[in-house]
Amino acid sequence: MAGQRTWEQPTGEPTDGDVLAAVGRLIEARGGVADLRALGAVRITRCPVLDCRVTRSLRRRREAAVEENGQPDLSHLPVYEDLDGHLVPPPSDPRVHRVRELLLDGSVRRHGCFCGNGKVPCSVCAGRGRISCEPWMRCAACRGRESCAECGGSGLRRDGRTRTAARLPRSADATGVPRADCALCDAPASACPDCRGRGHGRTVCADCRGKGSQPCPDCDGSGKTDHETCGGKGVRTTWTRGVVEDSPHHEEIRLPEERLPLRVRRRARRRGDWRHAVLAADDPLPDDLAPEHRAAVEPLLEDRPGEVARRVELDHLPLVRVDVVTHPDQVFYVFPDPTRLRVVPVASRRRIRQVTTVALAAALLCSLVLMVALLPR
Ligand SMILES: [Zn+2]
Ligand SMILES: [Zn+2]
Ligand SMILES: [Zn+2]
Ligand SMILES: [Zn+2]
Ligand SMILES: [Zn+2]
Repeated sequence: MAGQRTWEQPTGEPTDGDVLAAVGRLIEARGGVADLRALGAVRITRCPVLDCRVTRSLRRRREAAVEENGQPDLSHLPVYEDLDGHLVPPPSDPRVHRVRELLLDGSVRRHGCFCGNGKVPCSVCAGRGRISCEPWMRCAACRGRESCAECGGSGLRRDGRTRTAARLPRSADATGVPRADCALCDAPASACPDCRGRGHGRTVCADCRGKGSQPCPDCDGSGKTDHETCGGKGVRTTWTRGVVEDSPHHEEIRLPEERLPLRVRRRARRRGDWRHAVLAADDPLPDDLAPEHRAAVEPLLEDRPGEVARRVELDHLPLVRVDVVTHPDQVFYVFPDPTRLRVVPVASRRRIRQVTTVALAAALLCSLVLMVALLPR
């Protein structure tokens, strides 16, 4: 039924007559009587609502020296000569953050590394590719540490070859198990009875299968590792990078600035016939924007330094406040929904004060009654 709307003015504001008719209908529907057309019977205040969001894309340009291992492929980078003069189109959507990377013409240099091919000898195995490993599993009884008091498992006695009675080792250890004759140095009663001085049993090491060495885990047995300085590439590349960065910057205006009652804001948000507009940098403001909205938005639309794109999103709704002299307890807010003018009545300041005063008085009375009741008799 939008075609039947009679309140339309060039700015889309409902006329005073239409607003009063709508308020009158509501008062009558609730059993009230009001002659709203009488002189001084009403006060009409226009308070159109605006929600305006401005997003600018602000551009920054910067240069940086870059160094990378190897010979990276830079062929995808656009080449520039003068960063400030280099043309980069603005982002199609100013809300998007975008970084463009460029390459300064003729700035690419290759530097060979002293390592030659990017490899250096492994520091763990000193370039040998293998690390030593015990060929036998350790003796479970002595763990290879006290296998023989005289030769320590080496086969060479401490005194060279002879032994004296004074230096004779204990014939039994702390647990009372008698020591055995050493199989390596022949010292009597000085060796671990389990391994007889060898420090190991007959089981070969699972890691090296008895070979006594295994491949170095650091270099996988190759004896060489990547040179850290050049990242194993043997060559480094330097160049000058130009960066053009477009970042969004947001501003917002909400009118009217004095806050509307929550009930009115919610109803208007849900039911109102909001007009929506999205403008690019050079688009004019819509014709149906209220003059006070226009005045508030216009200063916001000046170009900022570095601005390359702009998006302005507007949502606006005519809203009228009506105070009726014969109904001082209520305030009526009127706005168009998609088919008609909608009226939202809310309690006036006077009414809210009244209610608060009554509640306070009741609370006071309650406490008085309580105090009297609790007084000792
Ligand atoms: Zn190197
Ligand atoms: Zn190694
Ligand atoms: Zn081993
Ligand atoms: Zn021994
Ligand atoms: Zn042993």
